[in-house]
Amino acid sequence: MSFEKSFNSSPSIVLTTPGRVNLIGEHTDYNDGFVLPTVIPQSTKIELSGRGGSRVRVASLNMAASGIESYMLGEEVNNGGWLAYIQGVTQVLAKSGFKISGFDAFIQSTVPTGAGLSSSAALIVGLIKALRLAYQLDLTDKAIALLAQRVENEFVGAHVGIMDQMAVSLAAPGQALFLDTRSLEFKLIKLPKHLGLIVINSGIKHSNIGGGYSERRQSCEESAKFMGVRALRDVSIDDTRKMMLLPPLLAKRAHHVITENARVVAAVSALQAGDLTRLGALFKESHASMRDDYEVSIPEIDILVEIACADPAVYGARLTGGGFGGSIVALANAQDAAAAAKRIADRFELRTGHKATVLVP
Ligand code: ADP
Ligand code: MG
Repeated sequence: MSFEKSFNSSPSIVLTTPGRVNLIGEHTDYNDGFVLPTVIPQSTKIELSGRGGSRVRVASLNMAASGIESYMLGEEVNNGGWLAYIQGVTQVLAKSGFKISGFDAFIQSTVPTGAGLSSSAALIVGLIKALRLAYQLDLTDKAIALLAQRVENEFVGAHVGIMDQMAVSLAAPGQALFLDTRSLEFKLIKLPKHLGLIVINSGIKHSNIGGGYSERRQSCEESAKFMGVRALRDVSIDDTRKMMLLPPLLAKRAHHVITENARVVAAVSALQAGDLTRLGALFKESHASMRDDYEVSIPEIDILVEIACADPAVYGARLTGGGFGGSIVALANAQDAAAAAKRIADRFELRTGHKATVLVP
Protein backbone atom coordinates (compact mmCIF):
# COMPACT_ATOMS: atom_id res chain seq x y z
CA MET A 1 0.00 0.00 0.00
CA SER A 2 1.35 3.44 -0.97
CA PHE A 3 0.09 6.76 -2.32
CA GLU A 4 1.17 5.75 -5.84
CA LYS A 5 -0.51 2.32 -5.71
CA SER A 6 -3.68 3.71 -4.13
CA PHE A 7 -4.23 6.68 -6.45
CA ASN A 8 -2.12 5.97 -9.59
CA SER A 9 -0.18 9.24 -9.28
CA SER A 10 2.50 10.92 -7.14
CA PRO A 11 1.63 13.17 -4.20
CA SER A 12 2.26 16.89 -4.57
CA ILE A 13 2.77 17.37 -0.82
CA VAL A 14 4.64 15.27 1.74
CA LEU A 15 4.59 16.40 5.35
CA THR A 16 5.57 14.82 8.70
CA THR A 17 4.17 15.71 12.12
CA PRO A 18 5.63 14.27 15.35
CA GLY A 19 3.83 12.63 18.23
CA ARG A 20 4.38 14.10 21.71
CA VAL A 21 5.15 12.97 25.22
CA ASN A 22 3.97 15.10 28.10
CA LEU A 23 6.77 15.52 30.65
CA ILE A 24 4.41 16.80 33.33
CA GLY A 25 1.07 18.66 33.66
CA GLU A 26 -1.61 16.02 33.19
CA HIS A 27 -5.33 16.86 32.97
CA THR A 28 -4.41 20.50 33.52
CA ASP A 29 -5.06 21.65 29.95
CA TYR A 30 -8.85 21.65 30.20
CA ASN A 31 -8.51 23.54 33.49
CA ASP A 32 -6.74 26.51 31.87
CA GLY A 33 -3.51 25.32 33.51
CA PHE A 34 0.12 24.62 32.55
CA VAL A 35 1.61 21.72 30.57
CA LEU A 36 5.13 20.72 29.52
CA PRO A 37 5.17 18.37 26.51
CA THR A 38 7.97 17.63 24.06
CA VAL A 39 7.98 15.90 20.68
CA ILE A 40 9.03 12.27 20.17
CA PRO A 41 10.90 10.83 17.15
CA GLN A 42 7.81 8.87 16.06
CA SER A 43 5.73 10.77 13.52
CA THR A 44 2.82 10.73 11.10
CA LYS A 45 3.58 11.20 7.41
CA ILE A 46 0.89 12.59 5.14
CA GLU A 47 1.15 12.52 1.35
CA LEU A 48 -1.51 14.56 -0.38
CA SER A 49 -2.65 15.90 -3.75
CA GLY A 50 -5.49 18.33 -4.27
CA ARG A 51 -7.97 17.50 -7.03
CA GLY A 52 -11.00 19.28 -8.43
CA GLY A 53 -14.53 18.37 -7.38
CA SER A 54 -15.50 17.44 -3.87
CA ARG A 55 -14.56 13.79 -3.49
CA VAL A 56 -12.02 12.97 -0.76
CA ARG A 57 -10.14 9.69 -1.02
CA VAL A 58 -7.91 8.61 1.82
CA ALA A 59 -6.03 5.52 2.93
CA SER A 60 -3.93 4.78 6.01
CA LEU A 61 -1.21 2.17 6.11
CA ASN A 62 -2.00 1.79 9.82
CA MET A 63 -5.59 0.91 8.98
CA ALA A 64 -4.77 -1.16 5.89
CA ALA A 65 -7.82 -3.37 6.41
CA SER A 66 -10.14 -0.50 5.57
CA GLY A 67 -8.51 0.12 2.16
CA ILE A 68 -9.31 3.37 0.36
CA GLU A 69 -12.07 5.32 2.11
CA SER A 70 -14.05 7.96 0.28
CA TYR A 71 -16.67 10.65 0.98
CA MET A 72 -17.93 13.95 -0.41
CA LEU A 73 -17.07 17.34 1.11
CA GLY A 74 -20.17 18.73 2.80
CA GLU A 75 -21.49 15.22 3.54
CA GLU A 76 -19.28 14.42 6.56
CA VAL A 77 -20.71 12.00 9.12
CA ASN A 78 -19.03 10.54 12.17
CA ASN A 79 -19.08 6.77 11.76
CA GLY A 80 -16.99 6.25 14.88
CA GLY A 81 -13.91 4.94 13.02
CA TRP A 82 -10.63 6.59 12.07
CA LEU A 83 -12.24 8.34 9.07
CA ALA A 84 -13.96 10.64 11.57
CA TYR A 85 -10.59 12.36 12.12
CA ILE A 86 -10.42 13.15 8.38
CA GLN A 87 -14.07 14.10 7.96
CA GLY A 88 -13.83 16.24 11.09
CA VAL A 89 -10.98 18.21 9.51
CA THR A 90 -12.86 19.00 6.32
CA GLN A 91 -16.06 19.88 8.18
CA VAL A 92 -14.34 22.18 10.69
CA LEU A 93 -12.36 23.89 7.89
CA ALA A 94 -15.59 24.50 5.95
CA LYS A 95 -17.39 25.79 9.06
CA SER A 96 -14.52 28.22 9.59
CA GLY A 97 -14.74 29.55 6.03
CA PHE A 98 -11.66 27.83 4.56
CA LYS A 99 -12.15 26.69 0.97
CA ILE A 100 -10.68 23.43 -0.25
CA SER A 101 -11.63 20.96 -2.97
CA GLY A 102 -11.50 17.18 -3.10
CA PHE A 103 -8.11 15.54 -2.45
CA ASP A 104 -6.28 12.24 -2.21
CA ALA A 105 -4.30 11.52 0.95
CA PHE A 106 -2.14 8.65 2.12
CA ILE A 107 -1.23 8.34 5.80
CA GLN A 108 1.44 6.30 7.54
CA SER A 109 2.51 6.70 11.13
CA THR A 110 5.04 5.34 13.58
CA VAL A 111 3.15 6.93 16.51
CA PRO A 112 1.28 4.10 18.24
CA THR A 113 -2.47 4.81 18.44
CA GLY A 114 -4.18 5.03 21.83
CA ALA A 115 -0.82 5.04 23.65
CA GLY A 116 -1.11 8.52 25.14
CA LEU A 117 1.38 9.91 22.62
CA SER A 118 -1.09 11.91 20.50
CA SER A 119 -1.42 9.98 17.31
CA SER A 120 -4.76 11.78 16.92
CA ALA A 121 -3.25 15.28 17.11
CA ALA A 122 -0.36 14.27 14.82
CA LEU A 123 -2.91 13.07 12.26
CA ILE A 124 -5.25 16.07 12.47
CA VAL A 125 -2.58 18.78 12.68
CA GLY A 126 -0.61 17.03 9.92
CA LEU A 127 -3.62 16.90 7.64
CA ILE A 128 -4.51 20.56 8.20
CA LYS A 129 -0.87 21.57 7.56
CA ALA A 130 -0.88 19.54 4.32
CA LEU A 131 -4.14 21.22 3.26
CA ARG A 132 -2.67 24.63 4.21
CA LEU A 133 0.10 23.97 1.67
CA ALA A 134 -2.20 22.55 -1.00
CA TYR A 135 -4.78 25.36 -0.82
CA GLN A 136 -2.68 28.27 0.54
CA LEU A 137 -4.87 28.51 3.64
CA ASP A 138 -4.10 31.56 5.76
CA LEU A 139 -3.44 29.73 9.04
CA THR A 140 -0.72 30.02 11.69
CA ASP A 141 0.54 26.95 13.53
CA LYS A 142 -1.35 28.14 16.61
CA ALA A 143 -4.59 28.61 14.63
CA ILE A 144 -4.12 25.08 13.26
CA ALA A 145 -3.81 23.71 16.81
CA LEU A 146 -7.10 25.39 17.75
CA LEU A 147 -8.89 24.02 14.67
CA ALA A 148 -7.46 20.57 15.42
CA GLN A 149 -8.88 20.71 18.94
CA ARG A 150 -12.30 21.59 17.51
CA VAL A 151 -12.10 18.53 15.25
CA GLU A 152 -11.74 16.29 18.33
CA ASN A 153 -14.26 18.22 20.46
CA GLU A 154 -16.98 18.97 17.92
CA PHE A 155 -16.74 16.10 15.45
CA VAL A 156 -14.94 13.09 16.93
CA GLY A 157 -16.53 13.58 20.36
CA ALA A 158 -13.32 13.57 22.43
CA HIS A 159 -13.45 16.46 24.92
CA VAL A 160 -9.70 16.92 25.03
CA GLY A 161 -7.84 20.11 25.96
CA ILE A 162 -5.39 22.04 23.77
CA MET A 163 -2.07 20.50 24.87
CA ASP A 164 -1.65 17.80 22.23
CA GLN A 165 -2.45 19.99 19.25
CA MET A 166 -0.20 22.84 20.42
CA ALA A 167 2.62 20.39 21.18
CA VAL A 168 2.67 18.65 17.83
CA SER A 169 2.07 21.88 15.91
CA LEU A 170 4.70 24.02 17.69
CA ALA A 171 7.25 22.01 19.67
CA ALA A 172 10.68 21.06 18.30
CA PRO A 173 13.14 18.26 19.17
CA GLY A 174 15.41 18.97 22.13
CA GLN A 175 12.94 21.45 23.62
CA ALA A 176 9.90 21.26 25.86
CA LEU A 177 6.88 23.48 25.28
CA PHE A 178 5.95 25.27 28.51
CA LEU A 179 2.40 26.26 27.63
CA ASP A 180 -0.17 28.34 29.46
CA THR A 181 -3.35 26.76 28.13
CA ARG A 182 -5.43 29.81 29.08
CA SER A 183 -3.52 32.50 27.20
CA LEU A 184 -1.81 30.05 24.79
CA GLU A 185 1.43 31.88 25.53
CA PHE A 186 4.36 29.51 25.50
CA LYS A 187 8.08 29.31 26.08
CA LEU A 188 10.41 26.72 24.53
CA ILE A 189 12.61 25.28 27.29
CA LYS A 190 15.87 23.66 26.21
CA LEU A 191 16.25 20.08 27.47
CA PRO A 192 19.66 19.70 29.17
CA LYS A 193 22.16 17.59 27.18
CA HIS A 194 22.63 15.14 30.05
CA LEU A 195 18.89 14.41 30.30
CA GLY A 196 18.01 10.95 29.03
CA LEU A 197 14.31 10.68 28.30
CA ILE A 198 12.65 7.26 28.42
CA VAL A 199 9.21 6.56 26.96
CA ILE A 200 7.70 3.09 27.22
CA ASN A 201 4.31 2.07 25.81
CA SER A 202 2.50 -0.39 28.09
CA GLY A 203 0.56 -1.69 25.09
CA ILE A 204 -2.74 -1.12 26.90
CA LYS A 205 -4.85 1.28 24.82
CA HIS A 206 -6.85 4.16 26.24
CA SER A 207 -9.82 6.12 24.89
CA ASN A 208 -10.69 9.80 25.35
CA ILE A 209 -14.26 9.39 24.18
CA GLY A 210 -16.84 9.19 26.96
CA GLY A 211 -16.14 7.22 30.15
CA GLY A 212 -13.50 8.23 32.64
CA TYR A 213 -12.01 11.12 30.69
CA SER A 214 -15.31 13.01 30.32
CA GLU A 215 -16.27 12.25 33.92
CA ARG A 216 -13.00 13.76 35.20
CA ARG A 217 -13.47 16.81 33.04
CA GLN A 218 -16.99 17.30 34.37
CA SER A 219 -15.89 17.02 37.99
CA CYS A 220 -13.34 19.80 37.39
CA GLU A 221 -16.02 22.08 35.96
CA GLU A 222 -18.25 21.33 38.96
CA SER A 223 -15.43 22.06 41.39
CA ALA A 224 -14.69 25.39 39.74
CA LYS A 225 -18.36 26.32 39.98
CA PHE A 226 -18.49 25.35 43.69
CA MET A 227 -15.48 27.56 44.38
CA GLY A 228 -16.75 30.45 42.27
CA VAL A 229 -13.75 30.54 39.92
CA ARG A 230 -13.54 30.44 36.15
CA ALA A 231 -11.33 27.33 36.16
CA LEU A 232 -9.24 25.29 38.61
CA ARG A 233 -6.25 27.24 37.30
CA ASP A 234 -7.49 30.10 39.47
CA VAL A 235 -7.13 28.17 42.74
CA SER A 236 -3.76 27.88 44.47
CA ILE A 237 -2.73 25.17 46.89
CA ASP A 238 -2.99 27.68 49.78
CA ASP A 239 -6.67 28.38 49.10
CA THR A 240 -7.76 25.90 51.76
CA ARG A 241 -10.93 27.86 52.50
CA LYS A 242 -12.09 27.40 48.92
CA MET A 243 -11.10 23.72 48.89
CA MET A 244 -13.22 23.13 52.00
CA LEU A 245 -16.33 23.98 49.98
CA LEU A 246 -15.94 20.82 47.94
CA PRO A 247 -17.51 17.40 48.58
CA PRO A 248 -14.79 14.77 49.25
CA LEU A 249 -14.55 13.22 45.76
CA LEU A 250 -14.45 16.58 44.00
CA ALA A 251 -11.84 17.77 46.52
CA LYS A 252 -9.61 14.83 45.60
CA ARG A 253 -9.95 15.49 41.89
CA ALA A 254 -9.34 19.23 42.32
CA HIS A 255 -6.34 18.52 44.55
CA HIS A 256 -4.65 16.70 41.68
CA VAL A 257 -5.19 19.52 39.21
CA ILE A 258 -4.11 22.27 41.61
CA THR A 259 -0.95 20.48 42.78
CA GLU A 260 -0.12 19.34 39.24
CA ASN A 261 -0.18 22.94 38.03
CA ALA A 262 2.34 23.88 40.71
CA ARG A 263 4.48 20.89 39.73
CA VAL A 264 4.70 22.08 36.12
CA VAL A 265 6.07 25.43 37.24
CA ALA A 266 8.55 23.67 39.55
CA ALA A 267 9.55 21.30 36.72
CA VAL A 268 10.42 24.22 34.45
CA SER A 269 12.80 25.59 37.11
CA ALA A 270 14.32 22.13 37.59
CA LEU A 271 14.83 21.76 33.81
CA GLN A 272 16.43 25.19 33.55
CA ALA A 273 18.76 24.32 36.43
CA GLY A 274 19.55 20.91 34.88
CA ASP A 275 18.42 19.33 38.17
CA LEU A 276 17.32 15.80 37.23
CA THR A 277 16.97 14.71 40.87
CA ARG A 278 14.38 17.42 41.49
CA LEU A 279 12.61 16.73 38.19
CA GLY A 280 12.52 13.01 38.97
CA ALA A 281 10.96 13.70 42.37
CA LEU A 282 8.27 15.80 40.67
CA PHE A 283 7.57 12.94 38.23
CA LYS A 284 7.03 10.60 41.18
CA GLU A 285 4.71 13.06 42.94
CA SER A 286 2.76 13.57 39.73
CA HIS A 287 2.26 9.84 39.31
CA ALA A 288 1.07 9.38 42.89
CA SER A 289 -1.38 12.24 42.38
CA MET A 290 -2.78 10.73 39.17
CA ARG A 291 -3.03 7.33 40.82
CA ASP A 292 -4.50 8.33 44.20
CA ASP A 293 -6.30 11.68 43.73
CA TYR A 294 -7.31 11.69 40.09
CA GLU A 295 -7.56 7.88 39.78
CA VAL A 296 -6.68 7.70 36.09
CA SER A 297 -3.92 5.11 36.38
CA ILE A 298 -4.40 1.36 36.04
CA PRO A 299 -2.60 -1.47 37.91
CA GLU A 300 -0.35 -2.38 34.94
CA ILE A 301 0.85 1.22 34.58
CA ASP A 302 1.46 1.46 38.34
CA ILE A 303 3.65 -1.65 38.08
CA LEU A 304 5.54 -0.19 35.10
CA VAL A 305 6.17 3.06 37.01
CA GLU A 306 7.20 1.12 40.12
CA ILE A 307 9.68 -1.00 38.13
CA ALA A 308 11.07 2.16 36.48
CA CYS A 309 11.46 4.00 39.79
CA ALA A 310 13.25 0.99 41.31
CA ASP A 311 15.87 1.04 38.54
CA PRO A 312 19.18 2.45 39.84
CA ALA A 313 19.60 4.69 36.75
CA VAL A 314 16.14 6.27 36.94
CA TYR A 315 15.43 9.59 38.72
CA GLY A 316 11.65 9.27 38.48
CA ALA A 317 8.80 8.01 36.30
CA ARG A 318 5.13 8.67 35.73
CA LEU A 319 2.11 7.82 33.65
CA THR A 320 2.00 10.20 30.68
CA GLY A 321 -1.09 11.22 28.72
CA GLY A 322 -4.71 11.02 29.79
CA GLY A 323 -4.38 7.66 31.52
CA PHE A 324 -6.55 4.49 31.67
CA GLY A 325 -3.70 2.83 29.77
CA GLY A 326 -0.99 4.26 27.54
CA SER A 327 2.65 5.01 28.21
CA ILE A 328 5.08 6.06 30.93
CA VAL A 329 7.80 8.68 30.81
CA ALA A 330 10.96 8.29 32.91
CA LEU A 331 14.19 10.20 33.45
CA ALA A 332 17.78 8.98 33.48
CA ASN A 333 21.18 10.32 32.52
CA ALA A 334 21.56 10.37 28.73
CA GLN A 335 24.21 7.63 28.66
CA ASP A 336 22.14 5.30 30.88
CA ALA A 337 18.69 5.72 29.28
CA ALA A 338 18.80 2.97 26.62
CA ALA A 339 19.99 0.23 28.97
CA ALA A 340 17.56 1.31 31.72
CA ALA A 341 14.61 1.35 29.30
CA LYS A 342 15.38 -2.19 28.18
CA ARG A 343 15.69 -3.42 31.78
CA ILE A 344 12.33 -1.86 32.67
CA ALA A 345 10.49 -3.37 29.68
CA ASP A 346 12.03 -6.81 30.32
CA ARG A 347 11.10 -6.78 34.02
CA PHE A 348 7.57 -5.64 33.18
CA GLU A 349 7.06 -8.54 30.79
CA LEU A 350 8.48 -11.01 33.29
CA ARG A 351 6.14 -9.76 36.00
CA THR A 352 2.89 -9.17 34.07
CA GLY A 353 3.17 -11.09 30.80
CA HIS A 354 2.43 -7.84 28.93
CA LYS A 355 4.87 -6.81 26.22
CA ALA A 356 5.91 -3.18 26.70
CA THR A 357 7.62 -1.30 23.85
CA VAL A 358 10.49 1.13 24.32
CA LEU A 359 9.80 4.17 22.13
CA VAL A 360 12.49 6.51 23.47
CA PRO A 361 15.49 6.37 23.39
P1 ADP B 1 -3.80 8.94 21.02
O1 ADP B 1 -3.98 10.31 20.48
O2 ADP B 1 -3.33 8.94 22.46
O3 ADP B 1 -2.96 8.05 20.17
P2 ADP B 1 -6.63 8.81 20.54
O4 ADP B 1 -7.68 7.86 20.98
O5 ADP B 1 -6.80 10.24 20.85
O6 ADP B 1 -5.25 8.25 21.08
O7 ADP B 1 -6.49 8.70 18.96
C1 ADP B 1 -6.30 7.44 18.33
C2 ADP B 1 -7.16 7.35 17.10
O8 ADP B 1 -6.75 8.30 16.10
C3 ADP B 1 -7.06 6.00 16.41
O9 ADP B 1 -7.90 5.05 17.00
C4 ADP B 1 -7.47 6.35 14.98
O10 ADP B 1 -8.89 6.43 14.87
C5 ADP B 1 -6.90 7.76 14.80
N1 ADP B 1 -5.56 7.67 14.17
C6 ADP B 1 -4.40 8.05 14.73
N2 ADP B 1 -3.35 7.83 13.90
C7 ADP B 1 -3.87 7.28 12.77
C8 ADP B 1 -3.31 6.82 11.54
N3 ADP B 1 -2.00 6.84 11.30
N4 ADP B 1 -4.17 6.35 10.60
C9 ADP B 1 -5.49 6.31 10.83
N5 ADP B 1 -6.07 6.72 11.97
C10 ADP B 1 -5.28 7.20 12.95
MG1 MG C 1 -5.38 11.76 21.13
